[in-house]
Amino acid sequence: MTAPQSRLRQLPSVDACLAHPAVAALLAAHPRSSVVESIRVVLEAWRATLSDGGAAVPDLEALARDIAAAVAARERRTLRRAINATGVILHTGLGRAPLSEAARQAVAVAAGYCVLETEADTGRRGERAAHIEPLLRELTGAEAAFAVNNNAAAVLLAMRALAEGREVIISRGQLVEIGGAFRIPEVIAQAGCRLVEVGTTNRTHLKDYERAISDRTACLLWCHQSNFRVVGFSAEVPMADLAALAHGRGLPCVADLGSGAFLDLSAALHAEVHEPLVRDIIAAGADLVTASGDKLLGGPQAGLLVGRADLVRQCRRHPLARAVRIDKLCLAALEATLRAYRDDATARQVPVMAMILRPVEEIEEAARRAAEALRGPLAAIAEVSVVATVAEIGGGSLPAQQLPSWAVALTPHDGDSDALAARLRALDPAVFGRIEGGRVLLDLRTVGTQAAELQEAVAQISLR
Ligand SMILES: *Cc1c(COP(=O)(O)O)cnc(C)c1O
Repeated sequence: MTAPQSRLRQLPSVDACLAHPAVAALLAAHPRSSVVESIRVVLEAWRATLSDGGAAVPDLEALARDIAAAVAARERRTLRRAINATGVILHTGLGRAPLSEAARQAVAVAAGYCVLETEADTGRRGERAAHIEPLLRELTGAEAAFAVNNNAAAVLLAMRALAEGREVIISRGQLVEIGGAFRIPEVIAQAGCRLVEVGTTNRTHLKDYERAISDRTACLLWCHQSNFRVVGFSAEVPMADLAALAHGRGLPCVADLGSGAFLDLSAALHAEVHEPLVRDIIAAGADLVTASGDKLLGGPQAGLLVGRADLVRQCRRHPLARAVRIDKLCLAALEATLRAYRDDATARQVPVMAMILRPVEEIEEAARRAAEALRGPLAAIAEVSVVATVAEIGGGSLPAQQLPSWAVALTPHDGDSDALAARLRALDPAVFGRIEGGRVLLDLRTVGTQAAELQEAVAQISLR
């Protein structure tokens, strides 16, 4: 074998690569800059390999294949489709709630010109909130409603509009951090308010709030614990008592519900922890409630503000509202999703609800079918079986709620479950499972209606 230096010189130039018909053909479909950059990357990789010694100099045909693969990887859209087989329904990393068919169609309609802020009958300028306010009023019993970009923005806007420069009283047991650096104390500080903590981590009483109220107080804030639970010797003040206290002192009581359930799941789930509905919190006396559009509601990323008309108006008219406004695509999806909740049967078909409510027997059946279909195609790669698992709702919603589920378990012959999981993620659509005990589990509860697609995608790894 020749010395590394002379072998490096045998690598073709960028121009020589470009002259190869297969590479030249790439220029018809892709930007020249991308093809040239891919050639550089491929040649650079070969230079490194050849300098290490050992490998033979590739011929132009082999290089052309590498270049085509590099261009394909570079030109592939990064925000591509995924199949969620993780067992976490509201998976923030995979876009939280998958939208209903109706919501997807609404997004497609709104993608063009649409009657966003125009009254079609008069031609006058209208309000974008008009598309969702009547629905939210009907579904929650609140006087008024508004939506912004996400719930973090809803909380920030509510605090800024109602309490800037004054004090906000909150229980120490509710100073929650949500994933992605949303922390209640920091949001309150960002809103220009002073946080007044009352009670203790595990127990807060009405008298704690009572003592903290002064003429500097702007509101009482009640925050859903969302992603954690305090068990054992613990107590929080019920919303009805907190609202009564606030109203007696002429103060508004604001509730950050986080998830914001619109359909009562407790009967179906035999849940130990009751998830309050937005409607319940309003009925209990909360003056303003904030909630996410893409958690338990199962809609697009959005933040809902529902409550007293004067408070909603204060939020809507605040200059910050413009900076955090909801975009038309999300608004369209939100309207369509909310419409589904006017009827129990259609609410249960919102994908997030359907996945939560799906009977475990059906999921087992789907897992067995998928395993059966995959055993052949994956024979050379992994042993395929089915296992009972536990799925979860995720997204900081009902953390204590376990959902019985079933998964296809892939036990790789080479024992490398990380590598197998990586190969699944590299597919298109990307398949995300979870690794457990040396196996890759594909949980069928979160795959939902994509079981056939999952089978088709996973069968592809055998071809590589
Ligand atoms: C999730 C959550 C938020 C943040 O909502 P986003 O829609 O993710 O911005 C705020 N407060 C609570 C209590 C939450 O659970």
